[in-house]
Amino acid sequence: MPKVLVLGAINQDEVARVSRHPLPGETVVATGVATSPGGKGANQAAAAAASGVEVQLIGAVGDDRAGSHQLEALSQAGVDVSMVRRVMETATGRAFICVSDAGENSIVVMLGANAFVSPATLHGAATPDVVVGQTEVGAVPVEALGGFAAECGARLVINNAPVVPLSPRLLAAADPLIVNRHEAADMLRPDDAATADELDLVARLRRSTGARSVIVTLGADGCVIADAADVRRLPAVEADEVVDTTGAGDAFVGVLAASLARGRSLDASAIEASTAASAVVARHGARAVPGTMALTD
Ligand code: ATP
Repeated sequence: MPKVLVLGAINQDEVARVSRHPLPGETVVATGVATSPGGKGANQAAAAAASGVEVQLIGAVGDDRAGSHQLEALSQAGVDVSMVRRVMETATGRAFICVSDAGENSIVVMLGANAFVSPATLHGAATPDVVVGQTEVGAVPVEALGGFAAECGARLVINNAPVVPLSPRLLAAADPLIVNRHEAADMLRPDDAATADELDLVARLRRSTGARSVIVTLGADGCVIADAADVRRLPAVEADEVVDTTGAGDAFVGVLAASLARGRSLDASAIEASTAASAVVARHGARAVPGTMALTD
């Protein structure tokens, strides 16, 4: 069976539903709260596993109840967590998420055990077809992941979210580099980012990073793909309703990686990823797994 290795953060999400996001200095009353499994690495791994490939996750949780809960939720989602490190006397990472009635989110993350994800953990991982890394755990483990991918001949998917400086070598090996429109602008010099044309923005990002391919996701506007052939737009799959966009990007990355591991083309994989992401925005939480508490009204 095709294999995907994901390296990244595992969090407990604390979600507050609000009519609108608070401004600095302001308090807004929540209309509902929920606790659910999250973290970019965990969400992407769960999304990849749901699309029927073998998935191993490299990450770290604390020795608290939240850590046990995250491991259980991941195992139930079909993710191999045997390489997830349990860090003693450390709290599991947490994300404090506000979701507005418009379905938009803002997020504050506490790293906790995620700060202990180390390159050494990679030794002993099963040889994958595709490796995926995002930068919520910092640049160092993701740089090591690039070396590991090169050693075992795996395709490298890099999601530079949140944006951190990455080496030219790692960026050049990304196939694809995936970021959203804000992250794309952050990765470019201000002069290069100052273009109103999204196709041009993505072409500039590919040129400046040297990545083999680049995908910039644009929320409800779909995504733009750039590779050696050209730069092209792919529309989003219309969602039944927009309830909560949290995790749409992670579902996109996870399902794209799974599809690439099955040998499908970048465009076919992006279509599959868009379909999965559209389903995520139509429901609460970053992913649909047992252990998600319903919002309390
Ligand atoms: P998040 O941080 O909210 O998980 P993101 O900012 O990383 O997401 P987006 O660009 O918002 O990523 O969305 C990723 C993909 O999800 C889009 O390319 C699109 O395919 C899908 N998507 C997002 N929002 C919508 C929407 N409102 N309707 C349909 N599809 C959507």
